[in-house]
Amino acid sequence: MATLDFAAPALRGACAPYDPLYDPLVSPIGREAMNYAPTYWVATAGEPPEDDGPLPGDADVDVLIVGAGFTGLSTALFLAREHGIRAMVVDANRTAWGCTSRNGGQGQNASGRLYRSQWIERWGKQTALKLDAEIREGFDTFKRLIGEFACDPQPGGHLYIAHRARKMDFLTNECRVMRDVFGYDTRMLSAKEVAQSYVDDRESCGALLEPDGIGVHPLKLAFGYLRMARSLGVKVHPGTPVLNVETIRGVHHVRTPRGVIRAKAVAFATGGYTRNDMHRTLDAKIMPILSNSLVTRPLTQEELTATGFRTRQVITDTRTLRFYYRLLPDNRVQIGSRSAITGADASNPRHMDVLIEGLHRKFPSLKGIRIDYSWWGWVDVSHDMMPRVAQPDPQQSIFYAVGYGGNGVSFSAHAGRRLAERVAGKWQHSRDDLPIYDSALEYPNVMGKVRWKGFAPFRRVGQRFLYHKYLAQDEKR
Ligand SMILES: Cc1cc2nc3c(=O)[nH]c(=O)nc-3n(C[C@H](O)[C@H](O)[C@H](O)COP(=O)(O)OP(=O)(O)OC[C@H]3O[C@@H](n4cnc5c(N)ncnc54)[C@H](O)[C@@H]3O)c2cc1C
Repeated sequence: MATLDFAAPALRGACAPYDPLYDPLVSPIGREAMNYAPTYWVATAGEPPEDDGPLPGDADVDVLIVGAGFTGLSTALFLAREHGIRAMVVDANRTAWGCTSRNGGQGQNASGRLYRSQWIERWGKQTALKLDAEIREGFDTFKRLIGEFACDPQPGGHLYIAHRARKMDFLTNECRVMRDVFGYDTRMLSAKEVAQSYVDDRESCGALLEPDGIGVHPLKLAFGYLRMARSLGVKVHPGTPVLNVETIRGVHHVRTPRGVIRAKAVAFATGGYTRNDMHRTLDAKIMPILSNSLVTRPLTQEELTATGFRTRQVITDTRTLRFYYRLLPDNRVQIGSRSAITGADASNPRHMDVLIEGLHRKFPSLKGIRIDYSWWGWVDVSHDMMPRVAQPDPQQSIFYAVGYGGNGVSFSAHAGRRLAERVAGKWQHSRDDLPIYDSALEYPNVMGKVRWKGFAPFRRVGQRFLYHKYLAQDEKR
């Protein structure tokens, strides 16, 4: 069994220690910035850029952005760059403290958890085509930004590996839909082609190769957003949690532990860390789901040969509780998958063992390899599996971009761009019919039927049941 090293590489600055058991549904919000999770990205991103420190008291602003992850920072960046609006960004913790410093860095041409064939089933071909054009443009937004900021890009597309032979039909159909309906240059690969030309993943029964997909160093990218936003006049205040928001005569009074921020417009970018008591528009609208990740020590030349890595592109498998991995620039393997249900259970070693066993199944030659970094984070899943970049009430200058379902590295760039357009009053109504823009987030439902806030306390019971079901389905031969 590999040894786990949970020691956090400490960064400069006064902040509260990292709490690995933090759970957005139950933990109290802190009064000072919590330190980063002990991620490989934190250890290798270099010194965090300057910020504006915790906000000491009251303030008056035109636009307040809550959450300084990819979404909040890109919104601020586009507001300043494309609309000349210098927003204030606040974060309860350090900048990029949430999923932005904890993900797998896989940038994909996607948004939410549904496949393109499911878009067609749910909304019909015309809407699916229009949504594809928007998400494709979003991937271009992401590509432009990663071209601007040094973030170790690993291009090559997305390799979607069938972890069982029975999954090849599903991939073949998705390949056909992407090619014939949406015009992508997708290709099916046999198990032999995958092993000979891409990677010798021992579970692979073949794969779908998508042309789009770029791995990045997510924290270097976020620090790039932060530096650029501040150079354009944006103020970024970590250690400034928003406790609640009250609107009085059209002005939003945003309460923090040290004062009140009066804002003409508020944009929430709080991802899976969205609390139920922050603002009624987001109350019970997001399901936070834990995801685990680990990074091995660098592979030796013999291990590189044995694992057959001939690519550094981003890779996922066809499990519902999927594994995603890639070979990092310094020859370490990063791999991630599902985790615990609650924050209180997050550090239970059995969850990280699932990941380590998954790594060993794919690469038996890595059995016993030292794990240098391991961590987890809360992914924001909406109740219909699609994100929203929305202004839920047209009479209120309250906005949000959340619900990416574990697919936010690239989409958050575009979500920030579109959120900035909404906040700036430059929204193009021709986009109003797209499912990611046309409505507000929904309450949870039972079996896809009645949507009701009262179901929210039972979501984790349902999640536990679904995990058992998915696990049994995923591992069936
Ligand atoms: C382990 C893991 C692996 C992942 N891998 C991938 C991947 O490979 N590819 C991919 O596309 N996506 C991946 N994701 C998801 C991706 O990281 C997220 O979609 C993305 O980072 C979301 O960015 P965000 O800015 O919207 O939210 P976050 O980065 O989570 O930022 C939200 C911020 O809001 C702050 N906040 C919350 N409440 C308040 C409050 N009341 N007041 C002030 N601030 C507040 C938090 O402190 C936090 O910093 C992964 C996620 C995890 C956890």
